[in-house]
Amino acid sequence: MEMTLNEIAPESLPYVHADEGPDDMPGHVKSSLFGVSLNIPITNGRLNLGTWQGRSNSLQATHSALSHSPPQEPLQFEVDHLVIGAGVVGLAIAERLSARGAESTLLVEKNQLAGQETSSRNSEVIHAGLYYPQDSLKTRLCIRGNELMYEFCEKNNVEHRQTTKWVVGQNEADLVYLEGLSKKAEALLLPTKRMPGPATFIINEKQMLAEEPQVRGKAALVSPRTGIVDVHGLMSALEARIQDHGGDVILQCEVTGMERMHGQQNIRGGGGYKVDMMTPAGAATVKAATVINSAGLHADKVYNLLKQPYSTPPKDIGRVNHNVNSAEHPLPPLKLHYCKGHYYGYSGRALVSRLIYPVPDKNLTGLGTHLTLDLSGRMRFGPDTLYVEQFDDYFVDPSTVGSPESLELVSQVVASYLPAVKASALYADYAGIRPKLAGPGEPFRDFVIHHHDGFVNLAGIESPGLTSSLAIAEYVESMLY
Ligand SMILES: Cc1cc2nc3c(=O)[nH]c(=O)nc-3n(C[C@H](O)[C@H](O)[C@H](O)COP(=O)(O)OP(=O)(O)OC[C@H]3O[C@@H](n4cnc5c(N)ncnc54)[C@H](O)[C@@H]3O)c2cc1C
Repeated sequence: MEMTLNEIAPESLPYVHADEGPDDMPGHVKSSLFGVSLNIPITNGRLNLGTWQGRSNSLQATHSALSHSPPQEPLQFEVDHLVIGAGVVGLAIAERLSARGAESTLLVEKNQLAGQETSSRNSEVIHAGLYYPQDSLKTRLCIRGNELMYEFCEKNNVEHRQTTKWVVGQNEADLVYLEGLSKKAEALLLPTKRMPGPATFIINEKQMLAEEPQVRGKAALVSPRTGIVDVHGLMSALEARIQDHGGDVILQCEVTGMERMHGQQNIRGGGGYKVDMMTPAGAATVKAATVINSAGLHADKVYNLLKQPYSTPPKDIGRVNHNVNSAEHPLPPLKLHYCKGHYYGYSGRALVSRLIYPVPDKNLTGLGTHLTLDLSGRMRFGPDTLYVEQFDDYFVDPSTVGSPESLELVSQVVASYLPAVKASALYADYAGIRPKLAGPGEPFRDFVIHHHDGFVNLAGIESPGLTSSLAIAEYVESMLY
């Protein structure tokens, strides 16, 4: 079917921001693509691409190719940084790289809007970095990310609250665990200017009752650095800053193929990458000096698109420890597992004023059926852990997860630390899916953030990925520059 340019809805086109600055022409919106600012006329509420006045060859190519629908030749662009996936992690990376100023940054997203997958289906907790192995990236990036997150939210007016959190122990074994956690936190979470106090401390039953009369337990580890954030506000702020830095976000643009380019040397010492995409206006190809794969639940598929990931195929593929995030240890093809977590809402008034967690599972598949608060003060419980086959299986089945038996079971689990909870006030709410490298019953796996020849591959960015997002961006930049 022939589609004229004026029939393409603005939201399906390269990102356009409609705030009118002093230089704007009336009846036009301002857009920047590949660092070139454009004034695009609006006709009957639609963008009139037929009159683009591009100032670069690539834009002229865009115009000419877009003028033929379907395009005769795929569009061709060149860019320094291509970030794949506009979840909170891809947004943070693109924001960081675009802030450098000297290079061009393009972030592409297959969905209609940024942040519609895992980034908008989580607990919105700013974790302190207590749980994971000491030398893991999860610990390191969570601790740094926690600090950066509070700073960013304060500077950019993103709603957040340092609620604090309790990890509640019920028996002797739990108390031993909490003591160990407290010692580890003391060694890892050094006092900062923002957070000069102790990383954690333990309170006894009497102190607990004085502060949270509804909570039951023998003791609790208090984490003062834990908080909550409005993840949508955070993502909007990051997206706006990418635009402000001259970077570009293109929505409804799915990466479908990738190839390493040989014979050319780019600033990163490699030949760069040729990346194929599908947009509503047809196929496009981007030549990128560096590619960052932050495709969340699809990171394995995106990575595996790269048929020849390394210039010299590694001999020991499949034998090395891939938790070592180093260029000397190439990655084998990746496989992600999908681990669904259901949340339960609570229609009654909040019974507590901070986040309450039980002691977590041994292999950290999840952090137990915990209680979090949203920014309006409502309680929610979960998420549980259930491995599923489909990456988009968000269905919350009222006949299983939402059944009276299931709600009764959740209330019994929660009652171990919050006996006043009522099964009748619980309801099955929404679900999120963790992109896990560890399959069912398998031991802990760290984030994979791996750089080779200008290709940075992120995989298994499950919790604490939101908290770590700004630190991941800092780490990725340090790998490239
Ligand atoms: C139930 C649950 C609870 C959680 N709770 C917390 C928490 O409280 N605190 C915390 O710190 N973390 C938490 N997390 C983890 C956190 O949500 C994630 O680590 C984070 O959102 C990951 O962001 P991302 O950008 O990597 O992935 P995503 O948000 O999934 O973004 C990836 C994007 O890539 C796009 N994409 C994929 N393939 C392509 C392609 N081929 N072309 C173009 N675009 C593509 C997708 O459409 C998607 O928008 C939780 C996760 C879950 C599931």
